[in-house]
Amino acid sequence: METLLNAAANQLRAARHVAVLTGAGTSAESGIPTFREAQTGLWARYRPEDLATPGAFARQPEVVWSWYAWRRELVQRAEPNAGHRALVGLARRVPLLTLITQNVDGLHQRAGSEAVIELHGNILRTVCSACGRLADTGHADSPPPRCPTCGGILRPDVVWFGEPLPRVALEAAVAAVQSADVLLVVGTSGLVEPAASLPRLALARGASVIEVNPVATPLSAAATLVLKGTAGEILPRLLALMDSE
Ligand code: NAD
Ligand code: ZN
Repeated sequence: METLLNAAANQLRAARHVAVLTGAGTSAESGIPTFREAQTGLWARYRPEDLATPGAFARQPEVVWSWYAWRRELVQRAEPNAGHRALVGLARRVPLLTLITQNVDGLHQRAGSEAVIELHGNILRTVCSACGRLADTGHADSPPPRCPTCGGILRPDVVWFGEPLPRVALEAAVAAVQSADVLLVVGTSGLVEPAASLPRLALARGASVIEVNPVATPLSAAATLVLKGTAGEILPRLLALMDSE
């Protein structure tokens, strides 16, 4: 493990442009469950894959809205963890860093990361499902509030399963991965696009792909280096090694 960490630290130190792709695992140590972890309490009998879809919202808007209200509260109570903070530190140690996240919790920004590319939107924003205008979220416990402009149903400004990603964000992510020497992939299962295709793009260009995850993923076999462990444990160690040699 020490050898792998050293190799990763060396690659990061030598890089001109580091791209970072983060997933739900990066926020797990902040107490925000990933979709594949069991849900607790009231929501234990629902599967997130059945709630985070346009079809579910069309059928049961009040259920989907309430689930997001619950997640929004979790996010607001959560604090960035050592992994989020280490990525702020990494940006200071390399000439250029582009942070791409699939997370909707805004914790990278709260930790101090700048110009974060949000591929899946942000749970703290609310948008009208009819006219697309941003709106106030309103009272968290009420069923879906209505758009003050057109009367349409309001929804969280996140990308649901089956929906396209925001084009500008996706293009920026692809451009970053196409110019980076190193792509650091943290806490994503690699099952949801484009978490799967961005690392492939980097590998095809000959860039190094470093994966940080406590378990093996579909990316692990192809990755240049696999650092087995949590974001909050591995990322600070990487920074320490970058500084020590
Ligand atoms: P995912 O596909 O990104 O998988 C989570 C990955 O994180 C798994 O591979 C798991 O092994 C890994 N992991 C768990 N704990 C970790 C830790 N401490 N450090 C590093 N890695 C760890 O995410 P998902 O849960 O399948 O969610 C799919 C999508 O749903 C996300 O991309 C996102 O858009 C949304 N979502 C967002 C949040 C958030 O914003 N915090 C949370 C859950 C889901
Ligand atoms: Zn509207």
